[in-house]
Formats: sequence, C-alpha cells, structure tokens
Amino acid sequence: AKAQLAQHVCFYEPGMDELVRKRRNVATELRKALDTGQLSIHYQVQTSVATGGILGYEALVRWLHPVRGAVPPAEFIPIAEESGLILQLGEWVLRQACAAAATWDSPCKVAVNLSPMQFSQVSLLALLKAVLEETGLAPTRLELELTESTIFMDRKHALELLADIKALGVSIALDDFGTGYSSLDILRSFSFDRIKIDASFVQDAESDLQTFSVIRAVLSLGKSLNIPVMAEGIETPSQFSMLKEAGCDEFQGFLLGRPLPLEHIVQSGQMGLVS
Ligand code: C2E
Ligand code: CA
Ligand code: CA
Ligand code: CA
Repeated sequence: AKAQLAQHVCFYEPGMDELVRKRRNVATELRKALDTGQLSIHYQVQTSVATGGILGYEALVRWLHPVRGAVPPAEFIPIAEESGLILQLGEWVLRQACAAAATWDSPCKVAVNLSPMQFSQVSLLALLKAVLEETGLAPTRLELELTESTIFMDRKHALELLADIKALGVSIALDDFGTGYSSLDILRSFSFDRIKIDASFVQDAESDLQTFSVIRAVLSLGKSLNIPVMAEGIETPSQFSMLKEAGCDEFQGFLLGRPLPLEHIVQSGQMGLVS
C-alpha cells in the first residue's frame, strides 16, 4: 500500500495539490455565497428581426465575492458542476428567473442555462413543474438552454426527458452550436426550438471566409429544419449586418444589450412591470 501511495504521489505534478485545494476552497466559498446572497442574476436581451422586438432575456448568474469582487461564471460554474453545487445553484437561478419573468408585462421568454448534471437529476421534471406552478409563469415563456454535452451524458434518458419537458410547453434551445463533436447528430435526434450559433463563429466571420460559409450553412440548415437560428456574441454593427444579410434573424450580444440587473432592464423602458 505504501508503494502504491508513493506511485500515486509521484503521478501528481507539483502544484496539483495547490490546485485541488484552490478548487475546494472555491466550492466552499460558493456554498457560502448561495446562503448569504452573494449571487445575483443578470439578464441579456435576445432580439428578433422578424418581429422587430424582444424575444426574451437570458438569465446569467453573477457572483460578487466580498473580497475577490466579481468572479466570472467561466471560473465557478465548472467548479459548481464538479462539486455538485450546480444542482442547488441551478435551482436557485431557475426559481429567480421564472419569478422575475412572471412579473413582466411583456410576454417575452426567459432563457435559463441548464448544466449536464441538472439534466441527469431524477427530479428535474418535477422541479420544473413545481417552479412554474409556484411562480405562475406560463410554461411557454420558459426556454431552457443546453449544450450537446448534456445529451451526450446519457442519450436515451436525455431524449426522453427533453420530450417530457417539451410536453410541458417549455421550449429547448441548443446552445453553443458548432463547438461540440456531433452537432449534426444531435440535430436529427431531437426537434429543438432554437439553435444558438456559438459566439466564436460570429467573432471570426468577418476575417475568415470559411467561417462565414459555415455560418451560412447553419442558417440554411435551420431554414430547412424549420428551426430559428440565433447568433450569439454580436458586438459590432458590421457583424450584425453581415449576419442579417446572410438570413439570420435572431441576435444576442453586447451590441443589442449587455447582461444587466433586472432593475436596469425595467428602468431602461425596454419592458414595463405589471402595475
Ligand atoms: P453562455 O450560455 O454561452 O452565455 C453567453 C455568454 O456570453 C455570457 O457570458 C455573456 O455575458 C457573454 N456575452 C454575451 N454577449 C456577448 C458579446 O457580445 N461578446 C462577448 N465577448 N461575450 C458576450 P457569462 O455570463 O460570463 O457566462 C459564461 C457561461 O457560463 C455561459 O455561457 C454559461 O455556459 C455559463 N453560465 C452562466 N450562467 C449560468 C447559469 O445560471 N447556469 C449554468 N448552468 N451556466 C451558466
Ligand atoms: Ca446560454
Ligand atoms: Ca452560448
Ligand atoms: Ca457556453
């Protein structure tokens, strides 16, 4: 056992312990953050050219740490997933986002990101039903965003669950499209309500003709499958017009609006509250 242990120890790179400790630390801090109200949600507008208006708002979690300041989701979401905290965090985001949307007088959607682990949670369907009932939000106003890695985890279970969720009236968007390993395979296995082209494509489109060709192909794929395609990460007017001319009619990005606290969205007059 001692020899085994020695082998085990040698396997680790120097600094690995440090890394593990740091991740564990973040998980502990995140647990505290959930209990002490350090988390909040920002909402980013999603627009449609066809209807000329607001389709919905994507809920994006924010962590304001008392000492470290704003911690980016890219840093803590993976740790939340690893530690299992994502279940509690995800449930909190879902509840907050649905409660917020239920107070909007505009019938637009609220889009909530779902992580793979939430998806393999046995009680997800029950949770969705409970939150919709509690908050009184019409199921058709909730959209769940998930990536293909979510479906990959347990394909059969995932496809059944997706069908059950859709049967509730909730819609499903395929997030970060194009960045996974089997994007086309996923498209033929389930009727998504929306495809979101990953921002990395949008950001390369102008400088790289090949990328733009891929985007055009995705747009035409969407048309033939009758699934709306949203371009993410639109930052400049030229990206916007390039995509629009290529036939894209749904957009999200800093150009259209940054993720903002709920009060700011309401104040900016983009949307009123029920009086
Ligand atoms: P995502 O779902 O792809 O969300 C879009 C990300 O792009 C957001 O980053 C948003 O702030 C950013 N973004 C929007 N427009 C632009 C733009 O024009 N330019 C650039 N450079 N970025 C733009 P954020 O909020 O940092 O979130 C990063 C990722 O963390 C999200 O990517 C999502 O995968 C994850 N995430 C955020 N909130 C949640 C949550 O509540 N639950 C789960 N499971 N994941 C979340
Ligand atoms: Ca998303
Ligand atoms: Ca995305
Ligand atoms: Ca992402």
